[in-house]
Amino acid sequence: TAISVNDFEVLGVIGSGSYGTVKKVMRLKDKKIFVWKELDYSSASESDKQMLVSEVNLLRELKHENIVKYVDRIIDRKKSILFLIMEYCEGGDLASYIAKVKKEGSTVEEQFIWKVCYQLTQAIKECHSRSKYGRSVLHRDLKPANIFLDSQLNVKLGDFGLARVLKHETSFAKTCVGTPLYMSPEQMSGMEYNEKSDMWALGCLLYELCSLRPPFVANNQIELAAKICMGKFDRISKNYSIKLYSLICSLLDVDVEKRPSIEVLLQNSALLNYHASNENNKMQQHQ
Ligand code: ATP
Ligand code: MG
Ligand code: MG
Repeated sequence: TAISVNDFEVLGVIGSGSYGTVKKVMRLKDKKIFVWKELDYSSASESDKQMLVSEVNLLRELKHENIVKYVDRIIDRKKSILFLIMEYCEGGDLASYIAKVKKEGSTVEEQFIWKVCYQLTQAIKECHSRSKYGRSVLHRDLKPANIFLDSQLNVKLGDFGLARVLKHETSFAKTCVGTPLYMSPEQMSGMEYNEKSDMWALGCLLYELCSLRPPFVANNQIELAAKICMGKFDRISKNYSIKLYSLICSLLDVDVEKRPSIEVLLQNSALLNYHASNENNKMQQHQ
């Protein structure tokens, strides 16, 4: 039988994004904690609703330890609200994490940045594996606010395409909330979003973890677009290794062809080493 909102108790509001509210909820039958995201589709067109359904179906299939787990959905047809029930990430999102580090006047440890990098590449690899899902699943909104941490500070990629589906229908002004700091040069010049644009965003994210600010900042969109297309950014602190810096630089290559795909990035020697030492640790834990 289908679940209903009555199977849950709302514990509180976590926050609101540009198109819905996220609430912390408890499933009554087993007292397990989840979040649900309330998506108002009342102003969506028929074709957008269909797109939403297919995106949700895709999300249900996307199962990976570094991707926020989709649990179930509830549709309130009277109110035109879709409730997406998902894994609760108690460590919050990376935007809050960065803000906290900044406030403390501290920096992010290099080891943690490698962990984020490694786990995000695993999540992106899953998404970009066309054969598995019939098509490549593009994230399209990779930014600190959409990357979550669990209680052990494991990284979980969240908040997929759905935003885009609904934003599509809403006013132009709404889609332009905030400046698109992670937008790639090719998007700026009107090219369609592709896998390499996700890779650019990953570069922006790693840069921001090192510098506590995005690689490209400006007071308005035109200035920002110019900076992004120039592709010039300040060097990150010398406290971080050259290996990390060169990995970030390769991702922030304005030339789409030169920018690594996920398959190429996975061959990065530092990442391979990280993977190897990780496997070693796992084996030692099992012994
Ligand atoms: P945008 O709408 O542009 O994506 P956003 O990412 O800040 O903006 P939401 O995605 O709606 O907004 O998220 C709202 C709040 O809920 C954020 O503070 C986010 O960290 C939190 N949140 C979302 N999903 C989860 C989750 N699975 N676990 C814990 N907190 C979450
Ligand atoms: Mg979000
Ligand atoms: Mg969001």
